[in-house]
Amino acid sequence: MAEADQHTPNDPGFGWPPADEEIHAALEAAYASGDWGRYHGAFTTALTARLAEMHGGEHAFLCSSGTVAVELALRGLKIGAGDEVILAGYDFSGNFRAIESVGATPVLVDINPHNWCLTAETIEGGLSDRTRAVIVSHLHGGIAPMPAIHSLAVSRGVSIIDDACQSPGAVVAGRPAGTWGDVGVLSFGGSKLLTAGRGGALLIQRAEVLQRIKVYCERGNHAFPLSELQAAVLPPQIEKLAARNRKRRDNAQWLIEQCRPFPFLCPLENPPDAGEPVFYKLPWLFESERLGGLSREAFVTAMRAEGAPLDVGFHGFTRRPASRCRKAGKLEHSARAAKATVLLHHPILLRPREDLEVVVAALASVHRDQTGRA
Ligand SMILES: *Cc1c(COP(=O)(O)O)cnc(C)c1O
Repeated sequence: MAEADQHTPNDPGFGWPPADEEIHAALEAAYASGDWGRYHGAFTTALTARLAEMHGGEHAFLCSSGTVAVELALRGLKIGAGDEVILAGYDFSGNFRAIESVGATPVLVDINPHNWCLTAETIEGGLSDRTRAVIVSHLHGGIAPMPAIHSLAVSRGVSIIDDACQSPGAVVAGRPAGTWGDVGVLSFGGSKLLTAGRGGALLIQRAEVLQRIKVYCERGNHAFPLSELQAAVLPPQIEKLAARNRKRRDNAQWLIEQCRPFPFLCPLENPPDAGEPVFYKLPWLFESERLGGLSREAFVTAMRAEGAPLDVGFHGFTRRPASRCRKAGKLEHSARAAKATVLLHHPILLRPREDLEVVVAALASVHRDQTGRA
């Protein structure tokens, strides 16, 4: 089974994005205005302003994907050959490739085993004289401890790329996710909580970083753009984001509590006062040894057979060869996350309780089968 995006937007029954009359109206408005064929216009201008406002007035810059946004962030910070960039041993695969694509070296550091995110301590263990930046993702409902990471980064002259691709609208220690970095990154990919089918954005604090990114993208036209047509569908979703995030969060909390009695699932736990998480995926660590040694893949298959659409997590980077990266420490929690993460994809978190109860019933059934057999 492949990585965390098995539920691709191409799957029938993927259930995302939901039918939405306001999006239909926005597409009709783009059509009626004639702007849908243009590169820049009212829709991209309005979206840029809305994203800046939502993130406390930083510069926003639209682009073609979250993956490209991470690469542009690195370029905007003038990171290149000879530089090191720290990232988690367990993260979205494109982040590793973005570092390689600017010629820098990825440095892997470990995650907090309870919330799938980096910590200031693990980042500190990866610093060297060559460290220029750290990519911090708020993954799977986890919230990275940004105040501590921010003080460390400032004291060591290291830039932060705050990857909020999985967590638009999350509150991280009192501030919107994406605003703790020199550059923040958003994705509007087809499976993401805000979707334009594809697309991304950067939130940029310093004007000179924005300028460098604009110059890099300018090839007679913006070479990595988000189009007017894509921009038209995002504002209606931004208006609904907070309410949907709240519903997903309530349902995630409900599922975490209902699943707590199952000894083979280790739930997400953010540090107290971390903030308000957002759920693109709801994760657990699957402890095979507590379910008669059943493999994770067999567990996921059994859950799916019971109607619970469980996926597996990212592969992570802990097995990448030393020729491609530097590994700081043993990365044991990242390796475990890569081997043991199971996930529910977000569309289920907007569904009625009965659909969530199917997941709990499936767990009970698989548990019964396994213990009966043991
Ligand atoms: C999806 C994702 C990205 C990349 O976004 P795309 O728009 O799919 O390229 C980057 N980081 C994280 C954590 C993601 O989940």
